[in-house]
Amino acid sequence: MTADYKDLAFQQCINPDCGASFDCGQTLFRCPSCGDLLDVRYHWDKIPVPRRLSDFARRWANRNHWLDLSGVWRFRELLAFCPDQYKVTIGEGQTILEQNQAIASHLGMGPDRLFLQYEGLNPSGSFKDNGMAAAFSHARLVGASSCACASTGNTSASVALYAHRCGLKCTVFVGSGRIAFGKLSQAMDYGAQTIQIQGDFDDCMRQVQAVCSRVGLYLLNSLNPFRLEGQKTIMFRVLEGLDWQVPDWIVVPGGNLGNSSAFGKAFMELKELGLIQRPPRLAVINATGANTLWDLVNNRGLRWNGGRYDRRQVEAYYKELTDRHFSPHTCASAIEISRPVNLSKCLRALDVCNGVVRQVTDQQICDAKALVGRYGLGCEPASAATVAGLRELLAEGTIAKDELVVCILTGHMLKDPNLTVNYHKDRQGSLSNPPIEVPNDLERIIELIKS
Ligand SMILES: *Cc1c(COP(=O)(O)O)cnc(C)c1O
Ligand SMILES: [Zn+2]
Repeated sequence: MTADYKDLAFQQCINPDCGASFDCGQTLFRCPSCGDLLDVRYHWDKIPVPRRLSDFARRWANRNHWLDLSGVWRFRELLAFCPDQYKVTIGEGQTILEQNQAIASHLGMGPDRLFLQYEGLNPSGSFKDNGMAAAFSHARLVGASSCACASTGNTSASVALYAHRCGLKCTVFVGSGRIAFGKLSQAMDYGAQTIQIQGDFDDCMRQVQAVCSRVGLYLLNSLNPFRLEGQKTIMFRVLEGLDWQVPDWIVVPGGNLGNSSAFGKAFMELKELGLIQRPPRLAVINATGANTLWDLVNNRGLRWNGGRYDRRQVEAYYKELTDRHFSPHTCASAIEISRPVNLSKCLRALDVCNGVVRQVTDQQICDAKALVGRYGLGCEPASAATVAGLRELLAEGTIAKDELVVCILTGHMLKDPNLTVNYHKDRQGSLSNPPIEVPNDLERIIELIKS
């Protein structure tokens, strides 16, 4: 890419009544005029976007080129906000789309109808790395020297990993007692300054925004629009895995709603570029103990409404949560969030993709997680909310048995080993598979195996 990045991309407020725009050399995170979220936008006519999506496929084989090795930067024309010299990669996005016949049959679907996009294969074990490759590239572009994030766990692990690769000082904020062990161990091991706030994720999120603006740290939560550009590539790889066929449904867990927002933007842009004919439908799955999106959309009728969504209704809802001292609770710690920062962008994604929102209980999540473990590649609890949600959507007839469905498995099974061990050892569900104790005696062992 030869043109200056300032000619190719810019940031713009998503509020149509504001629409303020800024160049990508600025570090803002929210619109300074109206406070809404920012998008990264492109001058597509100046970017050499391939005429067909399949033109990207040849890069898959070109592993000696550092940008082609990255599952994010292989699609660089679709996120052209930064010159190559600033781009960062640690090999993120080398993930696979697994066709899973066993789980499809188990759910009563056609055996070839279900795919699982396994983002647990990323360097830090979750999809967050896709976003960090893009956001840290922007951090380098603007010359940041220190960064921070609030996290339910995986963001801190990913930020810590990319920060030491880029030589940035890094502080992560986690809620006390809320974070899964695998994730906390990563943040500490990768050398992040780890601060446990006595509070939940929403408290951390508030504090980190205040700290970043006061001290000038680079913020890496999904409020950062450059992160979402990296997360768009998860959808490009899903399409690639389906030989560029658009599935009927994408099912994704909803926490801070960065992923669902990024997916919606990806399909909006592909449609605009004429690279797909229609977007898939989107199903966002909340946990019942952290169901803000579900409640606002299904019970209170909140809609994108061309960007003029009812902002006062959202504020009133959050005030209600504060007044009843509500704190979200679910075993799926990655989606234990009650004030999702990307709510407005997610409403847009639901609009673009004719989406639905459902909620599932912790028991449904744990059983679905065990199902993915038994027949698939394993995943963490939040990821399994997708399979639990799919089961519900099939039961109610919203998704038909012959529709092509992709569930996004957002994180690796080893992220939360305690939950898995307890599920099996304490026989917490229908798929529990506890260890069997046996005396140290050959005959007894053989007897047991044969039984
Ligand atoms: C962050 C995370 C989520 C939630 O994603 P959002 O983009 O915040 O909605 C879900 N699953 C896993 C494993 C995560 O790390
Ligand atoms: Zn604005």
